[in-house]
Amino acid sequence: MNIALWLARTAQISPDRPALYLGREMVADYGTFHERAMRVAGWLISKGIQPGDRVGLFMKNVPEYLVAQYAAWAAGAAVVPINAKLHAKEAEWILDNAGARLCFASSGLCDALSDATDVDCVLTGGAEWERALAYDPLPSMTPRAPADLCWLFYTSGTTGRPKGVMITHRMLQAMALSYFADVDEVHEDDTALYAAPMSHGAGIYNVMHVLKGARHVHPPSQGFDEAEIFDLARHHGRVHMFCAPTMVKRMTEVAKQTGESGAGLRTIVYGGGPMYVSDITEAVDHFGPVFVQIYGQGECPMCITALSRSDVTDRTHPNWQARLASVGRAQSVVELAIGDSAGNPLPAGEVGEIMARGDAVMPGYWQNPEASAKALRDGWLMTGDMGQIDEDGYLTLKDRSKDLIISGGTNIYPREVEEALLTHPDVVEASVIGRPHPEWGEDVVAFVVCRDKMDSAALDAHCLANIARFKRPKAYFQTDALPKNNYGKVLKTALRSQLEEMS
Ligand code: AMP
Repeated sequence: MNIALWLARTAQISPDRPALYLGREMVADYGTFHERAMRVAGWLISKGIQPGDRVGLFMKNVPEYLVAQYAAWAAGAAVVPINAKLHAKEAEWILDNAGARLCFASSGLCDALSDATDVDCVLTGGAEWERALAYDPLPSMTPRAPADLCWLFYTSGTTGRPKGVMITHRMLQAMALSYFADVDEVHEDDTALYAAPMSHGAGIYNVMHVLKGARHVHPPSQGFDEAEIFDLARHHGRVHMFCAPTMVKRMTEVAKQTGESGAGLRTIVYGGGPMYVSDITEAVDHFGPVFVQIYGQGECPMCITALSRSDVTDRTHPNWQARLASVGRAQSVVELAIGDSAGNPLPAGEVGEIMARGDAVMPGYWQNPEASAKALRDGWLMTGDMGQIDEDGYLTLKDRSKDLIISGGTNIYPREVEEALLTHPDVVEASVIGRPHPEWGEDVVAFVVCRDKMDSAALDAHCLANIARFKRPKAYFQTDALPKNNYGKVLKTALRSQLEEMS
């Protein structure tokens, strides 16, 4: 089944329901949204796009995004969303690797991309886009099989060149159904607010909101602006958003400074990187029970585990803090296990590599059989993340295997040290890595962002008071900001290079 049928259904049932917004202003109801997608689909086919072809989306978070995406799907093509913050040369590399036939690009991105690539670039909002919108609509969706490619997701690349994860129609449908079962309900009077890049988790979550006929709101800033989010939430109400943990932290800080209550925020799904207990506790204290956590990766998009709203909020369970530090339990459509380095399942309670299998798991990487064979073993996705499942089924991440620090033969999980540092009121951000050591193999060093310059001795005393002596950093480097990628994930590779340069 072509997942774009969800748009056709909602448009049939509720054509007048508001669909696409730029800020407070409605730009299309569902009838118009569907009609535009079908017209652009007809135009794409007239341009020679065939089922299975790849169509790039190098766009900011604008209302045309979803029109272009559903048009490509309706024509039977797969989309290749590219983060709008990438350099045109990086976008060109992705389009080339994907073998894309055409790319929709929004204003401010199209010119640079056109200069960098031979792929046909279409400016959304430009003259050609207008011609596409006036084209004869495709009479019906192009049929797609469950295993057909739907979304080619280039991993954010915290290491090496990005790889194209093949996301199929079946995977997205499984993800959406799992969302309803494990994450949240969606109603027609709800609002999806896109404040994080639509090329990633925030955008992939559009399908549940299309199926249920909710509103889709694109902030005029085209990005993440706390004051704008609070304003739009108040205006539209019942807002759902996907946020990286750093965004939640920023929203909490701004809300506390300004006295903002977060009225209108219904659900903030966070994930994509570690959320520290002190940060989420503060966020819940301020905004109330609006948070749900998910853990996933492009290879099993948004749906390996979920930590429910009640688990995030509950402080009565004897294990509430451990649960809050976990990423929750397996989502309905995946089987979860912990494996040894050869992929053999390990008993409960042991630390090992997190493995997932089920309908939401990718069939492999785009034209990369070697990487696919490494990531997929006997149907299991080897996530590259280390973790531990407790007897109640809660999974706690223990850092990616490459981030684990082994000092004197003992495993040290950077996350634990980071959690400890962050409980200090003057520490804003912390990232812990291993430094080569002639005797111990590695020792622990911390990069910290502090409110004011801090004495390393004070940081050390704080660690000594909270974690085992052997885990405490042997050096603290205070910095103004941690290096992050376009999705807000801390780049430990960059910290390692910084460390190398310093030695
Ligand atoms: P990506 O494929 O770019 O979405 O990155 C996925 C990776 O982000 C995972 O393999 C994890 O290492 C990390 N990640 C995702 N969700 C969480 C979470 N809730 N907590 C901690 N790390 C996460």
